[in-house]
Formats: sequence, C-alpha cells, structure tokens
Amino acid sequence: MGLDQMAKEIHFKIRRQDDPQSKPYWEEFHMPYAPAHNVVSALMYLREHPVNAAGQTVTPVVWDCNCMEEVCGACTMRINGQPAQACAALLDDLDQPIVLEPLTKFPLVRDLVVDRSRMFEALEKVKAWVPLDHVQDIHRHAPLISPNEQSVRYLFSRCMTCGCCMEVCPQFHQESEFVGPAPLAQVALHNSHPTGQFFKAQRLHAIMEPGGISDCGNAQNCVKVCPKDIPLTDAIASLGRQTTMQWLRDLFTR
Ligand code: SF4
Repeated sequence: MGLDQMAKEIHFKIRRQDDPQSKPYWEEFHMPYAPAHNVVSALMYLREHPVNAAGQTVTPVVWDCNCMEEVCGACTMRINGQPAQACAALLDDLDQPIVLEPLTKFPLVRDLVVDRSRMFEALEKVKAWVPLDHVQDIHRHAPLISPNEQSVRYLFSRCMTCGCCMEVCPQFHQESEFVGPAPLAQVALHNSHPTGQFFKAQRLHAIMEPGGISDCGNAQNCVKVCPKDIPLTDAIASLGRQTTMQWLRDLFTR
C-alpha cells in the first residue's frame, strides 16, 4: 500500500432508523483506506469503531449477513442507489461517499435490516419445492433429465431470495399483493421438474389468484438487476402460457 493510499479515507453515508416507527436519519462515517474491503467488512470496522464523521460515539450500525459468498441474500441493501449484496460489493469499485440504505420494499427492522418474510411466505404459497416422501428409490426410478435441461434448471435454482428483483419491481410494494418475480421464477423451475409437476396445477392456481402473474406489469426491471442472471422474464412469459392452458383445462373439466 502506497503512502497516498494510507492517507486515503473511505467516506460512508448511511441511512439509519432505530425502529420501524422512528424517523430515519443520515449519519456519515469515515474509515481508513485498506485494499480489498467489501461493504460487510467495512461495516464490521464501523461496528468496532462506532464514531461518526462529527467525532461522536454512536450506536453501531445494524445490518445482516451470513454466508459472505453471495449465496444467502441476507446482506442485500441499497448500495449507491442500487440493490446489491454487501458481501460482494468491493469498496474499490464504488464511488464515494458510499451511500448505504435498507431495501425499501420490505418492512424495516432497524438501520440496514429489513424483514423479507413476505418473499418466503410467497415461496410457501406457490409450493416451491419438489415433493418427496423419502421412500422412493430416486436413483433407479426417477426420470432422466438431459444435461441441457439440467443447466437451464440450475440457472433458476441459483435464486438466493435476496430481494433485488422485488426492490426494482414497480408492482411489488408494501401495499400490493403481488408475489413478485422471484417466487414466479421458482414456480417455473418446479413446474419443469418431473417430480415437481405433481404440484403443477396447485402452483398455477396459486399464481392465477389476485397478487399472481396478472399483477406483473412487464416493466422488466427485475431481470436487469438479478445478481444471479436468472432469466426472470422468460419464466414469467412461460407462466403466462402455462396459466392460459390451466384456465382452459379448468374450463373443460368442470
Ligand atoms: Fe435475487 Fe435474482 Fe432471486 Fe430475485 S431472482 S431474489 S434478484 S437471486
């Protein structure tokens, strides 16, 4: 590290809120420059040195993290205005001041922590799992899946329920019922699986209800921000066709 870098400081502007009812406020912090920091490691530094830019000792900033390898989605926040994972955001790549805010589409818990339960409840509603009763011999009797199909499904299976796609979706907000792009993509994934198809009709009926696929406004913001490059709009288009077929099947089997 050169002398110029040693003299450098990293400047943070963090939106803080003590609890869901209190007023939000901005607080600024500085930390000494060190190479290869990410936003989580910087927040760890600020937790150990909770002194704001005015020199006052304050309560440490609260945030969430878990896996530290962009797999769990827990550290998702708005970084310089864009939803992203704090563990994968390198300070060297970010303009300063580095502005950190909580996601805006989920209920705030404190500072940078939000409650993403709604996304997990949506996964439950659409039965985003493959049913297994643990008595089948999967290896001998399960249908074979081609490598091409496996690679497409693998793309969808990388969803980490981070909420980035929900954050930029104009149809998903605290007053709307829309389940959002990520649970819809999981419907497409599990409906395409030979065993997952046992719940195909139930999944389609779940997304044919209010708050389902018809609430998608086709803004296509979701696919642009997904850190896992999940083809969300392809999934939604496929589900549009699947729900139409399901509607016709329902019509003729009444
Ligand atoms: Fe995050 Fe992408 Fe999953 Fe949306 S689809 S929750 S952006 S990983």
